[in-house]
Amino acid sequence: MFENLTNKFEEIFSSLKKSPSLDEKQVDEGLRNIRQALLEADVSLSVAKEFVNNVKPKALGQEIIRSTSPGQMVVKIVHDELVHLLGESNSEINLNAVPPVPIMLVGLQGSGKTTSIAKLTRRFTESGLRVVLGAGDTFRAAAVEQLSMWAGRLGAEIVRGDPGSDPASIAHRAVAQAVEGSFDICIIDTAGRLQNQSNLMQELGKIRRVISKQIPDAPHEVLLVIDATAGQNALSQAEGFKEAAGCTGIVLAKLDGSARGGVIVPVAQRFGLPVKFVGLGESADDLATFDPEAFVDAMLEGVLKP
Ligand code: GDP
Repeated sequence: MFENLTNKFEEIFSSLKKSPSLDEKQVDEGLRNIRQALLEADVSLSVAKEFVNNVKPKALGQEIIRSTSPGQMVVKIVHDELVHLLGESNSEINLNAVPPVPIMLVGLQGSGKTTSIAKLTRRFTESGLRVVLGAGDTFRAAAVEQLSMWAGRLGAEIVRGDPGSDPASIAHRAVAQAVEGSFDICIIDTAGRLQNQSNLMQELGKIRRVISKQIPDAPHEVLLVIDATAGQNALSQAEGFKEAAGCTGIVLAKLDGSARGGVIVPVAQRFGLPVKFVGLGESADDLATFDPEAFVDAMLEGVLKP
């Protein structure tokens, strides 16, 4: 899944680990290679530099240089710094609020929003929670049909309107139904089409306001769905959603189709949001909670153990 960055790190560390002692020159060379590997994985130059600057003084500490396995200790330092870069804690959706908990999903068309809503719904209904979906992507009739199909399969209610109808009014009705019917969760889909930034701002802002009028402090989560296989251009476009919708976290969809799980590092860094879930396929079960510690463990699996 994360071949590129993993392979590079393995290469770099296996040579570092082989040497019985480390001097500053070797550490410098190793860190230069790490910086290069991060840059090749699309981590920004400033973050790659900061990463290396944070690791270097620790790696050159006397207790490391003098230890019997200095390379191993450097691996551990890099491991901890990567976990830090990814946001430390595993951040599940906060369900402590009084139900219903409204959650919005936003992102470019085709990024995987509807599928991710199905996956989240499966998670919630499996743990006994009752879910209402708001088919707020009124731009595309197919999106409404797709969501209705999932609702039927997964045992969720759905609130839908005519094609082209106001998404804020769908959100309003969905939240109202969730309140009246004592549902636990209300997930609102939104259109992925960007006509222009100001339309998007207005529409997403309006949906937010409608929800927060009904339930103070809501929406509790606004998840930005990112396609792991998308290029730089799509990532730039997706940045518009962060501000417009007040995003709280990322769902990184289609990670199964990407040879580069290493993409998580630059995505988390670029958006400054925690990756909460990763999508690993097209079925409702293909969603995993993202745990930075476990992810970095797996990424460095080959070199972490002595
Ligand atoms: P939306 O336009 O943002 O709602 O995107 P969709 O949910 O309709 O997804 C677009 C396409 O990507 C569909 O063909 C989905 O089946 C597919 N897709 C979504 N998530 C994943 C994933 O995690 N893995 C794979 N392989 N395909 C996905």
